[in-house]
Parts: sequence; C-alpha cells; structure tokens
Amino acid sequence: MEQIQRESMDYDIVVVGAGPSGLSAAIKIKQLAKENEIDISVCVVEKGSEIGAHILSGNVFDPRALDELIPDWKDLSTPIQVSVKKDSVRYLLNEKITIPAPTFLTPTFKNHGNYIISLGNLCRWMGEYAESLEIDIFPGFPASSLIIENDCIVGVITGDMGISFEGKQKESFEPGVELRAKYTILSEGCRGHLGKEVIEKFNLDENKDPQHYGIGFKEVWDIDPKLHEEGLVIHTLGWPAKGTVSGSYFYHGENNQAYIGYVVPLDYKNPHTSPFDEFQQWKHQSSISKYLKGGKRVSYGARALIKGGFQSRPKMSFPGGLLVGDDAGTLNFPRIKGAHTAMKSGMVAGQTIIDAFMKDDLKDDLVEYEENFSNSWVNQELHKARNWNPFLHKYGPYIGVLLAGMDQFLFRGKLPFTLKASKPDHLTLKTADQMPKIDYPKPDGTISFDKLSSVFLSNTNHAEDQPCHLVLKDENIPLEENLPKYDEPAQRYCPAGVYEIIEEEGKKKFQINSQNCVHCKTCDIKDPAQNITWITPEGMGGPNYPNM
Ligand SMILES: Cc1cc2nc3c(=O)[nH]c(=O)nc-3n(C[C@H](O)[C@H](O)[C@H](O)COP(=O)(O)OP(=O)(O)OC[C@H]3O[C@@H](n4cnc5c(N)ncnc54)[C@H](O)[C@@H]3O)c2cc1C
Ligand code: SF4
Repeated sequence: MEQIQRESMDYDIVVVGAGPSGLSAAIKIKQLAKENEIDISVCVVEKGSEIGAHILSGNVFDPRALDELIPDWKDLSTPIQVSVKKDSVRYLLNEKITIPAPTFLTPTFKNHGNYIISLGNLCRWMGEYAESLEIDIFPGFPASSLIIENDCIVGVITGDMGISFEGKQKESFEPGVELRAKYTILSEGCRGHLGKEVIEKFNLDENKDPQHYGIGFKEVWDIDPKLHEEGLVIHTLGWPAKGTVSGSYFYHGENNQAYIGYVVPLDYKNPHTSPFDEFQQWKHQSSISKYLKGGKRVSYGARALIKGGFQSRPKMSFPGGLLVGDDAGTLNFPRIKGAHTAMKSGMVAGQTIIDAFMKDDLKDDLVEYEENFSNSWVNQELHKARNWNPFLHKYGPYIGVLLAGMDQFLFRGKLPFTLKASKPDHLTLKTADQMPKIDYPKPDGTISFDKLSSVFLSNTNHAEDQPCHLVLKDENIPLEENLPKYDEPAQRYCPAGVYEIIEEEGKKKFQINSQNCVHCKTCDIKDPAQNITWITPEGMGGPNYPNM
C-alpha cells in the first residue's frame, strides 16, 4: 500500500480505551496536575461509537477505588443506585435440584457495601466527568497501531477509514491520525491487541505464568415486577457445566431489570463444548427460569475476561508507556470483580506519571509504576486470590473447587505457597475423537435463543467492504488442521456465529462473518494453533451495548 500522509497531534498522555481503568488514569492525572499546577494534556481514544458501547460486565461494583478517585461521588448524580441487599450462592445439581451454600463458606461472594450497576453507564458518567476536567475524549477512534521510534512507544495511530476489503483506498478514504505522546497508557481491557503486541515486543511476561481467560456472557432482561427483588445477587456453580468450572450470575438491578450471565473458563478440554449453548441451557434450571418466565430479553453480549491473576501479570511498564486494568490482568477472579482493581491500577499509573513530571524525570520506562502497584491494596487483594485459578485449573470442578474454597474460607488466601497454572488455554483441547460429543437442547425461543437472534440484540454493526479484522496467519489451518483434529472449535466458541464451515460446490470452506463480531477476543485466545489475530476494525464498528 502507498505511504499514507497523516495528521499528527501531540499530547502529553494518550490513553487507549475508555473503560474504568483508562478513564481513572486520565482523571487521576488531571486531578493531580491541577493540584500541583502543572499543565498536562490528556486524550482518550475509544473504539466504540460512544463511551460504554463496548463495555460488558456483570456488574456488582466494589466502590473502593471510586471512593478514592471521586470521594464525593455519592453527592453527584451517578448511575450507582442499587445497593446489594442479599447474597445467595447456590450449587445446581441438575436442572431441578438447587443446593444453597451458606454464605459464611463463600467469603469471596460477600457483597455487602457493593452496588449492582451497569458498568457501561458508569463509564459514560466517568467520561462526562473526565471531559469536565478538560480531557479530550475521542469515541469512534480505535488505536490501530503503535508508533515505535528507537524501541520506544511514542504514541498510536488511529484506524484508517474507507479501505476496501481488498485493501484499496475508496473515495471515502480518510487516513488515521498520529497521536503522539510522552506516555501511552494501554487500557484496552482483556486481550488488548496493542497490549498483546507490547507484551511480546518487550518480553513483559518473561518468567510469568501464561495468562488465563474465560468467556463471559450477559443478557439484560425485563422481568415480571412481582418476581423482581432489587438488590438480590445470585451466583451459581454446577449444572449444566460439563467438566469445567463454569459459573453464573443473576443480579436484580434497577427498573425491574435482571443482569444475568455465565462464564466458561477457556481451559476447557472438550472441543465439542459450546459456551453459548451452555449459557442458554443454564437459563432453564428451575431456580433461574422461575424469574424469567413472562419476562423479556432486551440485550445480549459476550466478552472474554482475564483470570490468570497475580502469577500471570506481566511487567506493567515498558519504554514509553504503561499497561493498566485488564490489559495487564488485574481482575480478582474469586470475586469475579475487575472494575475496582482496574480503576485502582489506572490511578496508580496516573500518580506515577505525575511524580515523573514533578521530578522532571521523564525517563522512557517508568519502572516505579510496578513498585507503586505492588505497594497498593490492589496488589494485596490479588495476592490473596492467587491460588484460586491454579486450584481450579489443575484439579477441576470438584476437588479444585473444594481446595480453592478452603484456600479462601479457611486460610483467607494466606497459604504459604503460590501455585502455577502453566498450560496456556489454547493448548488444553483434546482431539474431537477423544472427547464425547455434546447434545445441547434446541432453544425454545422464550428463555433460550439461537446465536443470530442474540447477536441482533447486541446492535452489532461493521461498515461493509472493509478489510477483515480477524486475520489468519495461515489460511489453510482451519480446514487442514483444526477441522480434522478438533472439528474446528471456532464454530462453537465464538459467541456470535462468526466462524462457519460451509460447503460450496461440494468443497468445504471456512467462512468468517466478521460483521457479526462482538469484539469478545475469544478466537484470539482459544484457537489451538494461535492462528487468529483480532485487530481493530474501522472506527464505530462492533456492538452498541446500551446498559451492559
Ligand atoms: C461477563 C463479565 C462479568 C463481569 N462481572 C464483573 C462484576 O460483577 N464486577 C466487577 O467488578 N467486574 C466484573 N467483570 C470484570 C470487569 O468488567 C473488568 O475487569 C473491567 O471492565 C476492566 O476494565 P478495563 O478498563 O481494564 O477494560 P474494559 O472495561 O474492557 O474497557 C476497555 C475499553 O477499551 C476500549 N478499547 C479496546 N481496545 C481499543 C483500541 N485499540 N482503541 C480504542 N479503544 C479500545 C474498549 O472498547 C473498552 O471500552 C466482569 C467481566 C465480564 C466479562
Ligand atoms: S470473531 Fe472472535 S472476537 Fe469476534 S465475536 Fe467471535 S470469538 Fe469474539
């Protein structure tokens, strides 16, 4: 392709991603800059059409970080309105039998003092707050590549618009802009594609455990007001999981809505597993379906979540920038909470940057960030949680859950050793002929649904005639390796039906319906040959979640 002339804009700080971590970093920097009377310019780029459009989260929100960032938030008109009133943890033995677990045995699921919120709406609110501090926010602008000079990241390039499927400039072509910065903060969330690049380039994960992931689903339901119990938080384990430690959540939020979802760890072995179908099946369990009868599903979405925790967290600083939030893996898995830890990591990053400005010591690699993070409460929280994922990963749904539960309940995360989970999720699949086929029930169209009608509710849209943003390193692998060995698992792990094996003129073809992609990143994680790379599509593309 010919050399593209681009406009360039200079900022002190460029933040990539307007999730809780990126917005907290930007806000903290501006607050401290004002306090210390330094002039610092900050911009935030967001690939969604608006802030919150790509945020998908449960969400039971721990306000600890927000209390520190915006201490008077309770006096402002925030979308944090429903406090948790009751926790219920249940083991689902089968479709009919539910065994309640005493809450004292499940300390990580205690949510007293937390809130049931839409994280997307909280980010929208934080975005407005950030703008009031003169932070420039650019929604609809994906950071598509890094600017690297002398082995240092000096900013990002936003995505070009108006390139055809074949890679040619169309009449509507508009080149992306260079956003140059003294420091670039990567806050793209789980499996950020620029984060992945810097981790690889600077070996940031050297001597760390491989990262681990789950795929999380969410639906928002309007439920019968007579069945709605505002403030009730339900978590379940067990049925219909097949050999995995999958779990669910069912949060009774505001306006008679329920936020419900299901998480399947991506270290599953059986390539016939379909996380989407398992989620749909779970809704038919009698203690769940009783709430949904007579209700209406109003949105659907899916997103990978990062769960390797303490042992898998890469070095968080690199020449020219910092990794924050789920881009670095700050989620606390036993609590299934990553919003407050992501926010705190952003705040620590902000403080570290301001310290460097104050000392007039703008060195390339702000290694102090790692130390500041290690001294923060978020690191203590993650340290306590560190053995949860390895126990589940190594010992599975029964013994693993028991040991992980004992680690948290009896020993409060203080066991004198740190376990490893050394096998990356893309290497855990057994071959299709070694594992039993799974017969998922057909959706009934009332409580359970198919993929296409679900994706419709995610309001996903991508401009037609653009290069495919799901890039195969080798186009032959899906049919020549993945199909014979694993019955091409992408057909089942993708929550949006993007990947299909179809027949054309008697020949099998691997089809990619990239316009349906909800940007969950599961294919980038789970493909056994690591053959699929997710890159940013044209700006504004992807889901348009309302209050996820
Ligand atoms: C199903 C599910 C349930 C969860 N439940 C809870 C819960 O109940 N409580 C809790 O605390 N946490 C929960 N979490 C975890 C929580 O949502 C995350 O830990 C948190 O959102 C991480 O924040 P972040 O800012 O790091 O990333 P994200 O929230 O993922 O935000 C990243 C932002 O960056 C944008 N972006 C990404 N790449 C680019 C790019 N290249 N250019 C421009 N923009 C980009 C994205 O569009 C997005 O807006 C849940 C997660 C899932 C998936
Ligand atoms: S194509 Fe990949 S990133 Fe997109 S929805 Fe499917 S699995 Fe997720």
